[in-house]
Amino acid sequence: RIGSQQVDRQVDSVCPFCGVGCLITYNVKDEKIVSVDGRDGPANHGRLCVKGRFGFDYAHHPQRLTVPLIRKPGVPKDFGDAPRPGDWGGAFREATWEEALALAAGKLKDLRDTHGSKALAGFGSAKGSNEEAYLFQKLVRTGFGSNNVDHCTRLCHASSVAALLEGVGSGAVSNQVNDVEHADLIFVIGSNPTANHPVAATWMKNAAKRGAKIVLADPRVTDIGKHAWRTLQFKADTDVAMLNALIHTVIEEGLVDEAFVRERASNFEALRENVKGYSPEAMAPICGIPAETLREVARAFATAKGAMVLWGMGVSQHVHGTDNARCLIALVTVTGQIGKPGSGLHPLRGQNNVQGASDAGLIPMMFPNYQRVDDAAAHAWFENFWGVPLDATPGYTVVEIMHKALAPDSDPHKIRGMYIMGENPAMSDPDLNHARHALASLEHLVVQDIFMTETAWLADVVLPASAWPEKTGTVSNTDRMVQLGLRALNPPGEAKPDLWIIQQIARRMGPHAPHFVSSLPPEGAVRALGRPGGAEGLDWNYQGDESGVAAVYEEMRQAMHAAISGISWERLQRESSVTYPCLSEDDPGQPIVFVDDFPTADGRVKLVPADIIPADERPDAQYPFVLITGRQLEHWHTGSMTRRATVLDALEPMATASMNQGDLDALGLQAGDVVTLRSRRGEVAIHVRRDDGTPAGAVFVPFAYYEAAANLMTNAALDPFGKIPEFKYCAVQVLRGGTP
Ligand code: SF4
Repeated sequence: RIGSQQVDRQVDSVCPFCGVGCLITYNVKDEKIVSVDGRDGPANHGRLCVKGRFGFDYAHHPQRLTVPLIRKPGVPKDFGDAPRPGDWGGAFREATWEEALALAAGKLKDLRDTHGSKALAGFGSAKGSNEEAYLFQKLVRTGFGSNNVDHCTRLCHASSVAALLEGVGSGAVSNQVNDVEHADLIFVIGSNPTANHPVAATWMKNAAKRGAKIVLADPRVTDIGKHAWRTLQFKADTDVAMLNALIHTVIEEGLVDEAFVRERASNFEALRENVKGYSPEAMAPICGIPAETLREVARAFATAKGAMVLWGMGVSQHVHGTDNARCLIALVTVTGQIGKPGSGLHPLRGQNNVQGASDAGLIPMMFPNYQRVDDAAAHAWFENFWGVPLDATPGYTVVEIMHKALAPDSDPHKIRGMYIMGENPAMSDPDLNHARHALASLEHLVVQDIFMTETAWLADVVLPASAWPEKTGTVSNTDRMVQLGLRALNPPGEAKPDLWIIQQIARRMGPHAPHFVSSLPPEGAVRALGRPGGAEGLDWNYQGDESGVAAVYEEMRQAMHAAISGISWERLQRESSVTYPCLSEDDPGQPIVFVDDFPTADGRVKLVPADIIPADERPDAQYPFVLITGRQLEHWHTGSMTRRATVLDALEPMATASMNQGDLDALGLQAGDVVTLRSRRGEVAIHVRRDDGTPAGAVFVPFAYYEAAANLMTNAALDPFGKIPEFKYCAVQVLRGGTP
């Protein structure tokens, strides 16, 4: 390892992987990152996990895209022979930027002008900056002319956000992770924090050491279980039964915080009525947790000075994901465990900027800061702000867009062209055979990325973009901290900053309808920078240097109204990290929200009763096992970055399927054997690994490996509110043998 005294320069940034948002310093020598140090950031206090410490050299990987590529005429978009990393199999030819941009934007424009605005859609990225997310959604709304814009939040916490917006009026966390320091009880549900939010997990372990009780509630018993006071290994898919049993106990045993419910909640009677039938004794056979254990946990939660709930995608990725989150909101409300230190609701955000990308409006039903596109006042404000007529109907979500790509020609909303920036739906979407077929069926697909991803493999034009260390920008972590990362390197070859590429597409497409000049936005909403209808905004002429990034940030700050109004670019340059809501330059930010009221219409939490809805596809005699998908410590999402990081790839070089010893024995398998996992939609051959934390009758597969893509098997059934697919539950066969 090269020490800091031997490097050419040190550049401060933010870890590009998970939503914990650890602040880092890149050590650069000879124009390469040679090591990474943890900084004393508010989320990490100098700590880093293996990804943050060693996952940096993907940026220097020889498979980086360095020139624009155009698909050769007549080459089929066939995924039958999936590409190996770095191999584009002669399907593409190199092109100049001018030629590639002219084709990329020209065909999108043709499709829009021929078939109308609904013919196009865009996926932005939670791996990019807030500024990129903001500009991308602005391009789709003003240039494409619809709200068909989404990103991977749809695949992780969309159902949590739906429940939170409905219940407490805000989709973000109420308390920051390291507030577990003040909690007596830490309720971790549907989350494997030591793998997925490792530095956050260290705060939980520290809390356990000083005496806090961790309750792990999860069908899989993961590492944090070693530190747990109680482990509730409930049967997969029975979240609502278990959580309603806890709420039932709180009410039945007189543990309700009556004053809190009376003064700050609505619809309590409906909740009380609904959970009457969910006694622990009735639910124990359903969820698999003894009634007395459920009662014990409910009592401990209700009587703790502070009890905090942290959850992951085990809660959200179900057809009843919104109901699961509604139950968590109800649990903290009836016990008064919200709006004070060491309590509250914390959906642990997955990717580094999934919070910020959502805040910036990279979602089909909301403008920046969760202002609904079908709200007349918000709609008028943004039409004025951007100076272009806007669609007032919510757009399609990720999975809906895939369906619309395969709609008949007669469908006026058929998606015919897409622009995908930094996302990899050909690996991350459910039911991949369907998703890949949909992407391949598009008349025009433009992909902007740093590697030839599985999605880029299906593109007509591939635009080489910048890796995170190659750009300056802000990201927002799971704790609502807006954090600034600075450019440490130049992009390789002819690769370009994403902000530049978005603008080039926007300029060539032009607005979907003529610009207009109407009344100015509401008084006070526009600050010194002025309306983006000036030379920078409507002409898509932001500067290519840091001042251009700052200009986009400041425009976004106006669009987000009060939420980040106290976080100026200059303040971020001084402080690196500021928590929102932050209303003025001297506001330190609010690490705990809902202290006095909730941002709902009546200022109260709305309690929403939930009943048991079974998974869309249950195991049966033909497909007897449950497939659970997820992540692992060393690899990140579809693996495009971490599998090209030397240390991380060496630690976990190949896909494995985890099963417990009992199931391995029953099938006559040993760890290391190859099995074929098969669902009704697809199959993979994969080595098995023993993991006794995986429940009987289930198999866990990470989705980072192209050669054993777990999502070939997953079910695209959606939660009706969050429109999130059921990644955490589908039925599979486990068959001995196969060729991995
Ligand atoms: Fe990066 Fe998350 Fe690890 Fe921190 S915990 S170093 S943000 S991957």
